[in-house]
Amino acid sequence: MSILKKFLLFLSRNGKIRRIVEKRKKILGVERFVAGETIEEALNQVEHLNKQGFSCTLDYLGENTVTREDASLATMVCIDLLQGIAQRQANCNISLKLTQLGLDIDSVFCEENLCNILEEAQRVGVFIRIDMEDYVRLQPTLALFNKLVHTYANMGTVIQAYLYRSLHDVNQLRNYSLRLVKGAYLEDQGVAFRRKKDTDEQFKQMIALHLTQGAYTAIATHDPKIIEFTLSYVKKHQFSLDGYEFQMLYGIRPDLQRRILAEGEKIRLYVPFGRDWYGYFLRRLAERPANLWFVVKGIFKK
Ligand SMILES: Cc1cc2nc3c(=O)[nH]c(=O)nc-3n(C[C@H](O)[C@H](O)[C@H](O)COP(=O)(O)OP(=O)(O)OC[C@H]3O[C@@H](n4cnc5c(N)ncnc54)[C@H](O)[C@@H]3O)c2cc1C
Repeated sequence: MSILKKFLLFLSRNGKIRRIVEKRKKILGVERFVAGETIEEALNQVEHLNKQGFSCTLDYLGENTVTREDASLATMVCIDLLQGIAQRQANCNISLKLTQLGLDIDSVFCEENLCNILEEAQRVGVFIRIDMEDYVRLQPTLALFNKLVHTYANMGTVIQAYLYRSLHDVNQLRNYSLRLVKGAYLEDQGVAFRRKKDTDEQFKQMIALHLTQGAYTAIATHDPKIIEFTLSYVKKHQFSLDGYEFQMLYGIRPDLQRRILAEGEKIRLYVPFGRDWYGYFLRRLAERPANLWFVVKGIFKK
């Protein structure tokens, strides 16, 4: 991993820098990656994307919440969001992070918040995807997922290809809807591959395994080689379009997003909104430090 990438991921967790950077949203060009601040703005954007043929998943930005008030607020926003999705009959589900619901404060409290959301999601018929965060949160996330998925069938989670253990996890979760990703956090060599080549190789194995296991597979990547691999694998084994989808992040590689759609594939865009964009934005810069160029251009334009 490059020093710049490591530095950006370090910044994504740094509270002091966060407070300085947050005041400069406009200059930094955050709106390239974030679809507004309010539920109304987010749903308008989803409607616009649905009209173009994209499915969506909305992410109310926020993570590593430290107060019960903030975790309860995030829970209420997710419930309002579910009602908004249902009212507008949007082709959209919700992605959320357990630390946003209070995982780091009290796991029982977090579970209560999650159950309230899942209850409402079940009522309105919307799917909930639990994002995967850094390695420290992996075990608690999987434990809660395994505990609740029997009661709430309308949920799935995420497995990250950069972790050594992930093929095993995909196998364990063979009956459930999984989003497969490369992984976005700064992880120790003891638990995660260093070399991109190794992550990519395991990513392909996970895709093949989960497709073959037969549960729903979301392949979330902008990597043309992984997309090509998936397309030829599903064609060769004649998997039905009902069993998988591609996913990409709002604002990243829109050219590729349109191409996949034009090929008749299903593609879901991950659409973040809200004020707490700092960690999300820094991880996007770290994935492609060339994005810093847009930030620099933005600064000099003002
Ligand atoms: C829908 C979705 C949900 C995700 N959920 C999670 C999650 O729950 N947990 C988690 O750890 N990670 C998650 N991720 C992030 C993921 O782990 C990767 O960090 C991210 O997708 C970049 O990896 P890549 O597969 O696109 O391949 P890479 O090899 O990183 O990139 C391939 C190509 O994609 C383009 N690209 C990639 N990233 C960017 C960027 N930021 N800006 C511009 N171009 C870019 C570039 O052209 C690059 O060459 C998610 C990703 C997606 C698409």
